[in-house]
Amino acid sequence: MTGLVYKSTGSWYTVKTQNGTTYECRIKGKFRLQGIKSTNPIAVGDYVDFELDTKSDQETGVINNIHDRENYIVRKSVNLSKQTHIIASNIDQVFLLITIDNPPTFTSFIDRFLVTAEAYSVKTVLVFNKIDTYNDDTILEVKYLEHIYKNIGYNCISISAKTGENIDKIKALMEGKVSMFTGHSGVGKSTLVNAIEPSLDLKTKSISAQHSQGQHTTTFAEMFDLSFNAKIIDTPGIKGFGVVDMEKEEISDYFPEFFELSQDCKFNNCLHIEEPKCAVKEALERDEIAASRYRSYVQIIEGDEQHYRTDIWDK
Ligand code: GDP
Ligand code: ZN
Repeated sequence: MTGLVYKSTGSWYTVKTQNGTTYECRIKGKFRLQGIKSTNPIAVGDYVDFELDTKSDQETGVINNIHDRENYIVRKSVNLSKQTHIIASNIDQVFLLITIDNPPTFTSFIDRFLVTAEAYSVKTVLVFNKIDTYNDDTILEVKYLEHIYKNIGYNCISISAKTGENIDKIKALMEGKVSMFTGHSGVGKSTLVNAIEPSLDLKTKSISAQHSQGQHTTTFAEMFDLSFNAKIIDTPGIKGFGVVDMEKEEISDYFPEFFELSQDCKFNNCLHIEEPKCAVKEALERDEIAASRYRSYVQIIEGDEQHYRTDIWDK
């Protein structure tokens, strides 16, 4: 049988088949996947093959195969062991919630998030929330950011999770897909999820509460089916993606508007900082690249080693 992993608690995995039946499954043998050494071989979002465990009187299963992943996001431990934990896989899109003030979301944070999402091959939709509270200045700011990010190819939507404005647009994008919501604490993630699916509120709250109690409890992701043929992965504890292991030369690959230009730089290993005849810097001077994007790029490049290893876990 084939199913989708909705929940994992370490040794047991909750797997749902196409017809909606749920089985608690264990793993047979050891999995080593796609060259990643992770503390967990299977994650929420994985498609797995399993067989029913006939020795058990319960309807439990044994997983014997994992389908190739479209993408996955990981958490790396900050200690020396550098162990990788796969948080979730096969994510169709992440909605990054942004507020201009209360709390402020800076472009440096947005860009760092986008670089990581690009590196993970996870599609990002930028959601400007709390537009019901905006004044002329904040509206201008949103318009400006929308202009920058739409030009690069990111979908941007302005909403109010409180009044419900444009929530239908978010729901339309979610249909038939697996989505995640992220952004700084206080930007309105819970309010938005609650507006999208009121019955889910209690569940997500209880999960977060449960995990915030003990210091040593690991935080597990969980997938939920919504009423309109959409799935969300709830990942309590994740507030944003940092920049994970990447070489300096690689970073501009994840700035989509830099990537094509960089083919025209004089040096093919150009970092677009101080090199002569740099197509990226020339485009910046012609205002074809947003100054804030270039600033974020330089910040990431000039960051110390720690920056590349920033955990996507905020704690
Ligand atoms: P989270 O930390 O991202 O889950 O944020 P919450 O959903 O808890 O929201 C933080 C605060 O912002 C709460 O007081 C919400 O009522 C408020 N809030 C969320 N969305 C909106 C919105 O669209 N407009 C307004 N005015 N307040 C909002
Ligand atoms: Zn260059």
